[in-house]
Amino acid sequence: MATTHNLGFPRIGAKRQLKFALEAYWRGDIDPSDLLEAAEQRRRENLQFQRHLDWQTVGDFSLYDHVLDSSFLLGNLPPRFRRNDGIPPLDNYFRVARGRSTDETPPAVAGEMTKWFDTNYHYIVPEFLRDTQFRLHPDALLSRIAEASEHGHQVKPVILGPVTYLWLGKSKDDGDRLDLLDRLLPVYRALLTRLAEAGVTWLQIDEPILVTELPPAWQHALRMTYYQLQAGPVKLLLTTYFGRLRENLQLACELPVAGLHIDACRHRDEVNQVIDWLPTHKILSLGVIDGRNIWKSDLNGLLDWLEPIHRRLDERLWLAPSCSLLHLPVDLESENELKAEIGAWLSFARQKLIELQVLATALNQGREAVAQALTDNAESISARQQSQRVHRSAIHERLAGITRSMAQRQSPYASRRQRQRESLRLPLLPTTTIGSFPQTTEIRQCRRDYRNGKITQDAYSSAMQQEIAYCIRQQETIGLDVLVHGEPERNDMVEYFGEQLDGFAFTRHGWVQSYGSRCVKPPIIYGDIERPNSITVDWTGYAQSLTEKPVKGMLTGPVTMLNWSFVRDDQPRANTCLQLALALRDEVLELEQAGIRIIQIDEAALREGLPLRRSEWQTYLDWAVQAFSITANGVQDPTQIHTHMCYSEFNDIIEAIASMDADVITIETSRSDAELLDVFEAFDYPNEIGPGVYDIHTPNIPDTQDILKLMRQAMKRIPPERLWINPDCGLKTRQWREVIPALENMQQAARILREKILQSTLA
Ligand code: GLN
Ligand code: ZN
Repeated sequence: MATTHNLGFPRIGAKRQLKFALEAYWRGDIDPSDLLEAAEQRRRENLQFQRHLDWQTVGDFSLYDHVLDSSFLLGNLPPRFRRNDGIPPLDNYFRVARGRSTDETPPAVAGEMTKWFDTNYHYIVPEFLRDTQFRLHPDALLSRIAEASEHGHQVKPVILGPVTYLWLGKSKDDGDRLDLLDRLLPVYRALLTRLAEAGVTWLQIDEPILVTELPPAWQHALRMTYYQLQAGPVKLLLTTYFGRLRENLQLACELPVAGLHIDACRHRDEVNQVIDWLPTHKILSLGVIDGRNIWKSDLNGLLDWLEPIHRRLDERLWLAPSCSLLHLPVDLESENELKAEIGAWLSFARQKLIELQVLATALNQGREAVAQALTDNAESISARQQSQRVHRSAIHERLAGITRSMAQRQSPYASRRQRQRESLRLPLLPTTTIGSFPQTTEIRQCRRDYRNGKITQDAYSSAMQQEIAYCIRQQETIGLDVLVHGEPERNDMVEYFGEQLDGFAFTRHGWVQSYGSRCVKPPIIYGDIERPNSITVDWTGYAQSLTEKPVKGMLTGPVTMLNWSFVRDDQPRANTCLQLALALRDEVLELEQAGIRIIQIDEAALREGLPLRRSEWQTYLDWAVQAFSITANGVQDPTQIHTHMCYSEFNDIIEAIASMDADVITIETSRSDAELLDVFEAFDYPNEIGPGVYDIHTPNIPDTQDILKLMRQAMKRIPPERLWINPDCGLKTRQWREVIPALENMQQAARILREKILQSTLA
């Protein structure tokens, strides 16, 4: 008999109920008890969705973040939160998570947030000091276990393993995190005892760092840890996900635990090796249902592969999704507007667990026991494989026809630069913005009305044109050098383009938690990508018709479109990215034809696609850079290409970024205090750079002096002839009353610097 279980379920709720409860609580609209009641309802429903499995997972739910929950479980709060000022624990929890809870509780400096492995989920980074002490606080977890057991569930709790917990944290005093292991392990041992007393027999203990490149000291720490925990009274299911084990495979197989879970979706090829290495007293849990993507599994194909494995392992085989389902939308049932044909190809968290059960039944009782489900599945798999919506031969031909020269500009930067100077006639240190201007309630309302058919196309167009005209006037009054149309027509930088390309689908409720109460709704790329009509040419052309100054056309790049979507799994990601690149290339060329002399292609998410293992980075960067270059580099020399990236760490990918060969790159620098600019000391970035001179994420109005300071730092590393002045990202979340004085100060700083430079060249 194969056993079924799950690694974790989304917490947010199919209708984002948890989000709304959290936000109502922070606003002071509901009491703590209302919030806790809403949370309990979510847990109850999540367990219901898993009730047909052999084990129900507990401990995966969180009010904000499961890593933060681990810090509470282990008694590791940053010292600034430990003083008991009578703040209720619930509020203190939110203070660590987000710097504040309700208005009644004092604010604090929140814990840092960072990305969870290669997902778009963000966790709160544990903080460590040399003298950090741990203390077990098991009550929350124990009460979750009791709650689920009372409802008759067969409970398998999940916790984060000690080594991954240390790995994910940061030392605040340069101490070695591994030195804390000796103090941490007794707390884990005590926890195991408490769990056993609560009737727990199996514990899922997550050590996803086993799929990353580990220094020997960390590999050793894993050995030490599980050697010490093996005497414990509960059986440990050591759980890894998000990739293959590779050089850690033998280690993972040999650690003294009762079972091992591996991600068997991305890399089936490792499974046989694991089976060979795994001692015969251990169970093997195979993550066979993809927990990172929304496609239905090919159940018949899976069975062909699993049946021999099942015969070999029998009772020792467990089946699960590849990772926690946290990274998927909750329930496909809520989608009634998705085209029926496409809907039939998809599977969200709830449906994935049903697939899992069908698989297990087929293995345990024979395929006949689930014959109907298997036939239905086979039909929808083959419908997708053959759909005209998915496969368009013209696009494949175009892809096959990609040549090297398509990714290259006509001339090297130095000669382009001359042509661009002559054509654009910009002053030294030109000023510009990143694209969007404030999105007022009226604009949002207008877009919504148009969408819902409440206003005509003409009314919509003229409202947008009015807004564009307003943006242009403001920019001219401030005196900016390169203007933008302001992006009033865009709800989201990926969705807007996706909606106008063939091959994309959009859900109504396909929300996935990004952090805390924040969710994103990634588009679904299901088929070959084509651009039926031009997308931005009319808006940008209209803006350009209103001014003598150059208006910068604004596009989202292919890599960002890819990295912020659910991507089809029936061809390499690189190919999908190249299809996007070809479609966007046509848009670029059409903008150029329409007289737009500067085009910006945003790659906000380029970094997010980096594989977990550094050894795989180059392959990714190669095709990502190729895709960007195909989009951008078909233009004539005098046309200036900009790109924008909104993160500060790119020291480690600077060469790839330079090879994109954009004429100008604008980047975020203000928050990292120009630290980022250090990279330009070691690496001589050849083209032009606009270091973001102020942080658009706060309502604060930057001071001219601060902007000057940052620019002076920049000028130490990059000659002023290659510098631009701009904010560090788009302004859509700001108010006009913040934006205008901020940009005025920025323009003022440019004036002062130009004057100074002029004087010094005259002297
Ligand atoms: N052009 C986009 C904007 O200004 C860029 C957004 C981003 O980088 N995240 O909104
Ligand atoms: Zn940005």
